[in-house]
Amino acid sequence: MKILVVNCGSSSLKYQLVNPENAEVFAVGLCERIGIDGSKMEYEVPSRDFEKKMEVSLPTHKDALTIVIKHLTDKEIGVIESVDEISAIGHRIVHGGEKFVSSAVITEEILAAIEENNDLAPLHNPANLMGVRTCMELMPNKKNVAVFDTAFHQTMPPEAFMYPLPYEDYTELKVRKYGFHGTSHLFVSEVMREILGNPEHSKIIVCHIGNGASISAVKDGKSIDTSMGLTPLQGLMMGTRCGDIDPAAVLFIKNKRNLSDKEIDERINKKSGILGVFGESSDCRDLENAVEIGNERAILAINMFSYRIKSYIGAYVAAMGGVDAICFAGGIGENSSVIREKSLEGLEFLGLELDKEVNSIRKKGNVKLSTEKSKVQIYKIPTNEELVIARDTYRLVK
Ligand code: ADP
Repeated sequence: MKILVVNCGSSSLKYQLVNPENAEVFAVGLCERIGIDGSKMEYEVPSRDFEKKMEVSLPTHKDALTIVIKHLTDKEIGVIESVDEISAIGHRIVHGGEKFVSSAVITEEILAAIEENNDLAPLHNPANLMGVRTCMELMPNKKNVAVFDTAFHQTMPPEAFMYPLPYEDYTELKVRKYGFHGTSHLFVSEVMREILGNPEHSKIIVCHIGNGASISAVKDGKSIDTSMGLTPLQGLMMGTRCGDIDPAAVLFIKNKRNLSDKEIDERINKKSGILGVFGESSDCRDLENAVEIGNERAILAINMFSYRIKSYIGAYVAAMGGVDAICFAGGIGENSSVIREKSLEGLEFLGLELDKEVNSIRKKGNVKLSTEKSKVQIYKIPTNEELVIARDTYRLVK
């Protein structure tokens, strides 16, 4: 069984050929700068330790997918003889709105329904859909499945997902909290539930902290709240996104600085967060290095970043009436011992105890970071969104 997982952005295409039953990755890679000068392609076959990176002209997504297929089926470096071996294609779709509470086999009707959500994710959904259409064109006999970033959070109750705006903004414009990173929150919380022994009741907090970051409260396997909102801008402080701020600040800055809609949007999405406060980089490794040499703005940024994670953990412990486990995933969650430690500092009153030594050692895979006597399990769990997409695709097409 081989599922092709496609994550298509406006100028990129990430792909993975994976066995959904045992998680084996046959090939993985990405195409970058599609339609822009200096486009690149990466292709990797993990089982053979084979890696190829090259600059190649990629004017369109169709060119990108064509070259991916060429590599996958290449006589020497390929992993399949022909595309016939691909059972189905799973696509990451960012916004499923309220219509999609789970993944769906793609038909023209489903495509139209996804298109209706384009307004809610103008940067992502049209690009995701282009990936679907390109696959349909180049591999017309394959089934395509849409896996939505928002679907896992559709179990949130109204008191969590509604915004206190005029009610017609919800009914007419569908303005509400949707949440994102759903496949990651689902994957990590499921792994954690298994580690806990699959109890009937469980209260798990998942901190998916990467360049984009969100936290979720998962009670008995269902997302009951999450930090991202109508768009992925709400919630935590992120690499370049501001997260929660007073919405009036946006208008205030826009007017005072005389900015266009596009400029203020860029300011809060691309120039804020770690980059905005620290000023030198949005990357957590650069931030940590600057903290080490006493850079004051870096220290402020890392303190703000961690404080906000801690505040959400506190809120979600309250929302669930307790917590059994806190999990860290994402580039920062999996790798930054400093941010994990700072985010949990002061939460000992919950009965949790971080094993600081274990936390400071970098180790692959799922790692228990709490001490034996800690009442709350603390874990690092590497996420695997592609596997969730592949598994869902397999489930729907088999
Ligand atoms: P996204 O998928 O949202 O683009 P990732 O999950 O890949 O982001 O996370 C990227 C972030 O992870 C960057 O800020 C990067 O600095 C951070 N990161 C990666 N490795 C480390 C590390 N060893 N220590 C600290 N931060 C790290």
